[in-house]
Amino acid sequence: MKTMTCKQLGGACDFEFHADTFEEMAEMSRKHAMEMFQKGDEPHLSAMNKMQELMKSPEAMKAWLENKKKEFDLLPDHK
Ligand SMILES: [Zn+2]
Repeated sequence: MKTMTCKQLGGACDFEFHADTFEEMAEMSRKHAMEMFQKGDEPHLSAMNKMQELMKSPEAMKAWLENKKKEFDLLPDHK
């Protein structure tokens, strides 16, 4: 089990996600972002805008994801 925060995953707060795989982690962060989006949370809205800018370039998005996955791999495992 590893821990990453919303901020570490391109979000806007210190909410923590706990997951065993990077895919799971990304999925949790996506769900959290959607919840905050529905609440109209301003910091998350602007963070999501930035991510959408990034997604316009598949290359940049891929590089970003690979970077985050590396970050995830380097995190210490905990139970
Ligand atoms: Zn957040």
